[in-house]
Amino acid sequence: MDVPVQPSGCRRRLGGLPVPVLLPRSELSSGRAAGMAATALVDEVSTDTYRATLEALTAHPTRHSFSAAYRDAARTVSDRFAALGYGTREEPVAVGGRETLNIIADKRGTAPEGERQLVYVVAHLDSINEAGGVNSPAPGADDNASGAAGVLEIARVLATAIIRHDLRLVLFGGEEQGLHGSRVHVADLTDADRARIIMVVNMDMIGRLNTAAPSVLLEGATVSQHVIDTLAQAAHDTSDLEVFVSLAPFASDHVSFIDADLPAVLTIEGEDQLNTDEHTPRDTLTGLNISVAISILRMNTAAVATMLGVSA
Ligand SMILES: [Zn+2]
Repeated sequence: MDVPVQPSGCRRRLGGLPVPVLLPRSELSSGRAAGMAATALVDEVSTDTYRATLEALTAHPTRHSFSAAYRDAARTVSDRFAALGYGTREEPVAVGGRETLNIIADKRGTAPEGERQLVYVVAHLDSINEAGGVNSPAPGADDNASGAAGVLEIARVLATAIIRHDLRLVLFGGEEQGLHGSRVHVADLTDADRARIIMVVNMDMIGRLNTAAPSVLLEGATVSQHVIDTLAQAAHDTSDLEVFVSLAPFASDHVSFIDADLPAVLTIEGEDQLNTDEHTPRDTLTGLNISVAISILRMNTAAVATMLGVSA
């Protein structure tokens, strides 16, 4: 039986929402917010390994949440996290009468119990072909192999770093059916973990160049203003990205955290709604601009490393 699902991971509906605002560089301090250890990690972000991960993820015929190929992809990324030394687990996600899963990877910080805060880096792993069924081609290169490969690249860069606070990486399923993976994850959080979350960085569509100059949109809410500020400073320090800001979050997994009053921000290519290949078989690697993705990854790595209190 086919369970009717309403795709709500679609970013093409901007009607009625305020237009993101360009943040002038002059509004950022000239000093570097990131410490030397964080800055050194930024230079570990690799175009070659990121591209190889993108190729591996898009080699699956689809990553539709309910497909066998999704489970293959999830197993592959879980193995990758484990090989890097992360503690990994699966989180089952019920969607109507069906089931998909999230992959969670944890790295513990060095601060004493009770002082360790929690930093999240997340992306959805699933893809969709809106015009087809569960097994129709859905390479989902930009949406969202670009963000999932980004989580894996940040995992690689931070694998051996000494961090003061705890790092949790999550790849969600069921995003394209309505943010199910992140909704379940947030609902399942313990009160103790909920209270120590200081940052959630979501990557969804970070690999297309839709604007004349490379740009990023930081989309959050009042609860995540400090995360937006940290990311904007990191963009200034580590990239040439133009930074747009919006406080009207919609249609990706940061919304699940913001709805629970948690400080989440979506990092996404500028003018993402101009990507009309989203959710079609045309969302392939050839449409990506890897250097935009690497710039966004450099920004995110700097901001995350800074918030984690990285020291080596
Ligand atoms: Zn997406």
